[in-house]
Amino acid sequence: MADEWKSGIVWPIPSVIDPGPPTALPSPIPSDAIRLFDGKNLDAWHSGDKWLVHDGVAQVRNTDITSRESFGDCQVHLEFRTPDVVSGTGQGRGNSGIFLMGLYELQILDSFDNETYSDGQCGAIYKQHPPMVNACRKPGAWQSFDIHFQSPRFNPDGSVKRAGIIDVAHNGVAIHTAVQIAGTTAWDSPPQYLPHAATLPLRLQNHGNPVEFRNIWVRPLVPIVGSRPQ
Ligand code: MG
Repeated sequence: MADEWKSGIVWPIPSVIDPGPPTALPSPIPSDAIRLFDGKNLDAWHSGDKWLVHDGVAQVRNTDITSRESFGDCQVHLEFRTPDVVSGTGQGRGNSGIFLMGLYELQILDSFDNETYSDGQCGAIYKQHPPMVNACRKPGAWQSFDIHFQSPRFNPDGSVKRAGIIDVAHNGVAIHTAVQIAGTTAWDSPPQYLPHAATLPLRLQNHGNPVEFRNIWVRPLVPIVGSRPQ
């Protein structure tokens, strides 16, 4: 097995806060959103048929799934819950994650009374940046991520013109604002940027835990551009 990579940065443990109770129903979907999962099936995902869809919920099975559609700058909403029957500790409890562009992981973990490294807990940019606060709900309770993502930009020579930038609300609570993503988010190697397409699929992680999802949608972010008539 490869050796674990650590950044060497010492982070405080994010304060635990109560974000308030979950909503019983999935939150409303904007009219222009692209629905990636609305409780019916995972047809919008490669390998979606490998996961279990039941009662309007998609449960992680033995593989990652990747969206058929590709996205660059985008708003993502997703709702997830970690298993109500708690098993495992640290990174082994309720672990999944959403990889923006398939490369940059926003960690999903049961971080409710479950110690792990700060930059690996729920809401962390994995191995790079902890959330400002720990806004987790109890295991088995529905939670949400609302993500605004600006993809990295590359120069023609492949160097980084501008890092990826991410804003995240966890259960409605701001946990990242304008955080620069340092690159890929591997367990065993430092972040790096290799030039890639302007849009790439989203990926949801199988980490061996039966995390469940409902209500996943995306809105590509298209800037509004003004003009000054002569
Ligand atoms: Mg993960």
